[in-house]
Amino acid sequence: MKKILIVEDEKNIARFLELELRHEKFEVTVCYDGRQGLEQALAQQFDCILLDVMLPALNGIEVCRRIRKQSDVPILLLTARDAVMDRVAGLDAGADDYIVKPFAIEELLARIRSIFRRVKSSDAQEQAKLTVRDIEMDTQAYEVFLRGERLELTRTEFDLLKLLMWNKNIVCTRERILEQVWGYDSEVETNVVDVYIRHLRTKLVTDGVPYIETVRGVGYVMRE
Ligand code: CA
Repeated sequence: MKKILIVEDEKNIARFLELELRHEKFEVTVCYDGRQGLEQALAQQFDCILLDVMLPALNGIEVCRRIRKQSDVPILLLTARDAVMDRVAGLDAGADDYIVKPFAIEELLARIRSIFRRVKSSDAQEQAKLTVRDIEMDTQAYEVFLRGERLELTRTEFDLLKLLMWNKNIVCTRERILEQVWGYDSEVETNVVDVYIRHLRTKLVTDGVPYIETVRGVGYVMRE
């Protein structure tokens, strides 16, 4: 049975999540403030942590940062509607994903399933083949196919696309992209990310929904 920790000070939301997740056959632990949440997170092995940002005692971003120093447990942030900065700070603090309140329980469950799939596939070592919609990538052969046709990409474009495909359905901040594609000590500015995203978009021709979605003020995501 998978174990989920809920850290949420609004009792009615916490209770609702607890009941819904129990119904989905998860084992659930609930904490109502950040300090307690952090203690629990470090004391036990959880499969996923649902972490509110606005918390008494210790805020969710700080809790996230401190958990990350010791654990890779998947963290899903629960953020307020207009708190774009919280989302950026949360993702930079090492959260895996975020969901904006109020949310439908189905969406939350989908995010949790997506996190579990990702953990499973990274456990199975680096997946050789990545797919998003009709884009296929063979990471070992360094090949990308769009609707079956081979795409010519530069090494940087390839690495950028790989990061986005690998994190399918999860928003990557510009800072994270910069770190992972260009490296921590890189001198380039974050707007270089936007430039490369533009390059990729012109190559990933679509007559429908664009493959790479811009999340304003945060970063980019590829969705199924
Ligand atoms: Ca709260």
